[in-house]
Amino acid sequence: LRDAEGDDTGNLSDRPPVITIMGHVDHGKTSLLDALRKTDVAAHEAGGITQHIGAYQIVTPSGNKLTFLDTPGHAAFTEMRARGADVTDIVILVVAADDGIMAQTVEAISHAKAAEKPIIVAINKIDKPEANPDRVKNELLQHELVPEDMGGDIICVPVSAVTGQGLDNLEESIALQAELMELQANSDRRAEGVVVEAKLEQGRGSVATVLVRRGTLKVGDIFVAGSESGRVRALLNDRGEQVKSAGPSEPVEVLGLSGTPEAGDELIVVEDDARAREVAAFRHEKRRQTELAAQGRGTLDQMLSKIKEGEAQSLPVVIKTDVHGSLEAILGTLQRLGTEEVQVQVLHSGVGGINESDITLARASAAIILAFNVRANAQARELARRDGVDIRYYSIIYELIDDMKQALSGMLAPEQNEQFLGYAEIREVFNVSKSGRVAGCMITEGQVKRGARVRLLRDDVVIHDGVLKSLRRFKDEVREVQQGYECGMAFENYQDIQQGDRIECYEIVEVARTL
Ligand code: GDP
Repeated sequence: LRDAEGDDTGNLSDRPPVITIMGHVDHGKTSLLDALRKTDVAAHEAGGITQHIGAYQIVTPSGNKLTFLDTPGHAAFTEMRARGADVTDIVILVVAADDGIMAQTVEAISHAKAAEKPIIVAINKIDKPEANPDRVKNELLQHELVPEDMGGDIICVPVSAVTGQGLDNLEESIALQAELMELQANSDRRAEGVVVEAKLEQGRGSVATVLVRRGTLKVGDIFVAGSESGRVRALLNDRGEQVKSAGPSEPVEVLGLSGTPEAGDELIVVEDDARAREVAAFRHEKRRQTELAAQGRGTLDQMLSKIKEGEAQSLPVVIKTDVHGSLEAILGTLQRLGTEEVQVQVLHSGVGGINESDITLARASAAIILAFNVRANAQARELARRDGVDIRYYSIIYELIDDMKQALSGMLAPEQNEQFLGYAEIREVFNVSKSGRVAGCMITEGQVKRGARVRLLRDDVVIHDGVLKSLRRFKDEVREVQQGYECGMAFENYQDIQQGDRIECYEIVEVARTL
């Protein structure tokens, strides 16, 4: 999508802001979306709200139009951004006043900051007796969000999605922020928009919820959405009413698609069917090539060549570690590393295994992931592989720092002296009198070898690094066991194993790799 200012000069008019609500699970995102929707003055005339739709627009009591996106989590928000569908203008960060800032709140903050979106904090559940808005504000400080009443620029609004308290203030704050941003678009041109959600519905065919970004989408328009084409058969607003057209920042359901596009796909209106087919075919091919290109091409390589060519001023990273102590040590040292030309930019840091949120964030910002004594969960590994996101694993802080030093100079020649062999999962633990505790395992990936090195992972955090002393199939000691087979394992001088732990098996090899 081109910049909203693009070729539209001359015909610009104000458009409503598009708002995404993010926050920790159970802090009230859904409740707040519902509660805000109920404040819509236009809805009352239409006889209430029944539809679920991925985006809706309200008119506040003071006459401001606001468009809310119902994105399922910050990973989806960033996934859309990575695909070029950066539709959000303002992020509402919901923090439950009785619970405070939690892991996913921190993730959401990092995602919003990486996308360079203004954040308004809704301190929710203030109806609860345990609510403590001041504590939330103090916690925000630790994440470099300074509330207005503490001398900063972050607007914090206490609200209750249950009683409706404070919702008017929240809406006014959003409208004020939007005014500052001077959001404009040209409504007098062929429409461009983004698919917010799409599904195949019985009796209706493929239906897409589209957020119009510029221009006006009309019934009868010929369009391409992703690599699907169509002609608008009907448009329905967020209350399920048929409308003739939809303008900038307006969400509409579009009927008349040839197939089902994906969330994040771009919709554009074209002059005729021939052009629609042409664009659809082009996009189809482009998508295939992008997918191919993502495989095997690490973001690190791209970043390094940019640094070498002097194009990049920062090396964006996401850092995950086993404990707070190691995280603080790494962050402290990285801060002092940068030169005038290039700096390490920490997009997100946290304690715990690597998850989907980390991968999407890294991908959208072309960052690499630094993993200190932690591993990626299965879903994250799959995503990283698909999107070509670089995850670098470390167990020695010095090596991590050294790699970043080299990376900042545009080169990285790590001694890749470790070769991954496989993963196993502990299904059962047996107490065997002679050999102590034995892990009954299933090999879930690759293979394991007796005498090889093993790391024990609990919740994706490395809790032990040692040697595989014994490897058995039934009663016999064996040299190796392949994926899909069960086996018994015992570790040298180590007994603390539990059902559900994962085992990573690896070998030390002496290869120097130059990028
Ligand atoms: P989400 O996971 O962030 O979408 O959270 P939900 O909207 O599903 O809310 C989680 C729980 O908190 C539900 O049981 C809600 O009823 C409750 N809840 C949400 N907002 C409020 C509020 O303002 N006050 C109180 N007391 N409960 C709330």
